[in-house]
Amino acid sequence: MSGIIIIGAGQAAGQAAASLRQEGYEGTITLIGDESFAPYQRPPLSKQYLSGELSIDRVYIRPAKFYEDRNIDLQSGVRVTSIDRQNKTISTDNGQTLAYQKLLICTGSRPRELNIPGSDLPGIHYLRRLDDVDRIRDDMASANSICIIGGGYIGLEVAAVAVTAGLSVNILEMESRILQRVTNEQMSAFYHRLHTDRGVNIHTSTACTGFKGDARVNSVLCQDQTIAADMVIVGIGILPNIELAQQAGLECDNGILVDDHCRTSDPDIFSAGDCTNHPNPILGRRLRLESVPNAMEQARTSAANMLGGDKTYAAVPWFWSDQYELKLQMVGFSSDGDTAVLRGDPEALQFATFYLKDGKVVAVDAVNSPKEFMVAKRLYGMQVNADSLADSAIDLKSLIS
Ligand SMILES: Cc1cc2nc3c(=O)[nH]c(=O)nc-3n(C[C@H](O)[C@H](O)[C@H](O)COP(=O)(O)OP(=O)(O)OC[C@H]3O[C@@H](n4cnc5c(N)ncnc54)[C@H](O)[C@@H]3O)c2cc1C
Repeated sequence: MSGIIIIGAGQAAGQAAASLRQEGYEGTITLIGDESFAPYQRPPLSKQYLSGELSIDRVYIRPAKFYEDRNIDLQSGVRVTSIDRQNKTISTDNGQTLAYQKLLICTGSRPRELNIPGSDLPGIHYLRRLDDVDRIRDDMASANSICIIGGGYIGLEVAAVAVTAGLSVNILEMESRILQRVTNEQMSAFYHRLHTDRGVNIHTSTACTGFKGDARVNSVLCQDQTIAADMVIVGIGILPNIELAQQAGLECDNGILVDDHCRTSDPDIFSAGDCTNHPNPILGRRLRLESVPNAMEQARTSAANMLGGDKTYAAVPWFWSDQYELKLQMVGFSSDGDTAVLRGDPEALQFATFYLKDGKVVAVDAVNSPKEFMVAKRLYGMQVNADSLADSAIDLKSLIS
């Protein structure tokens, strides 16, 4: 009997399956993922799972029993190879053809790869999947030095774990500052100093041009210098997994195009998570996001709407990153602001930067200030006085209008 098929078994897919049952759906749910694991959280992969603080059991989103108890057919290690929209079926690499009434595509994204001389040498890693981290951890156990290509969140989180574990760490960043794509100059400078104070060597405006080594990588080439490295992590961004949708003739443009109900150009096919390009009614533009809150909320929206609901996905994007003992929480996009207001003390490693546009809060980056962050999220979109915002003696809550 045909029911709902979910392609992918990651963050969005796992949530969608759970939400469908919570919404009272009693039909067939088939969750098909090409990794050999039940849905798990990726954020710990570059943080507590890499450092060994979290065991694998704590990384799974829900225990295997959850899917059994709710009669969710979880097929791990199975890849969906095509979608036939005419006949409303999908095919898999283990020979199944399965019919659907509604289909949800949650295929996520994959690391952008470096194609330069030596880039296929053993010892060069990408970090997306649980088994990538198992290989990285094995290598880290015997390595003395690591070179990280890319000064984005994943690269910096790995640097924090590696330098804390006693490795010599180099980061190569092509742009003139780390985190260039995601934050302002002051925040980049704060994180640059944080890492260099802990012993990480950061090389900005430095492009990696190749790798050298015999049986495995032993050095990284960049313009005029060679950096010795027992292992390499490449973290230079991701690409959305849209090929399956494209081949099925669904509209795609930097992601699978969905409306604010997570519906694709086919009314029986929905999509959620990293692979989507979706409208954000609050920001008034389309976005492709790489974040857990987005994957979870789009999953809930898709589940409700596949069952005939009328749920709109409209949320201000937010994200977090853990480096050393610092928790960074961000809401909105700092690049939308015309003024930055600092509250708190960066020297004390506890502060927040508010970004205003025409006097209204459009983004906040909060470091080690979770309580303030909660209030800051409520201030989003509100007109505030910049001097009051900067004054830590004034209770943030009193600024909510
Ligand atoms: C190391 C790391 C750290 C991160 N840290 C943070 C963080 O601190 N905060 C935050 O908000 N976000 C973080 N993210 C991003 C966050 O994890 C992603 O945004 C989230 O996982 C997206 O969920 P998803 O379900 O869209 O995709 P995924 O979780 O990637 O799941 C997609 C799944 O579909 C599978 N798949 C693809 N094609 C097929 C197919 N044809 N057939 C079957 N299966 C298929 C994929 O293999 C994958 O298992 C991090 C990501 C990484 C990699």
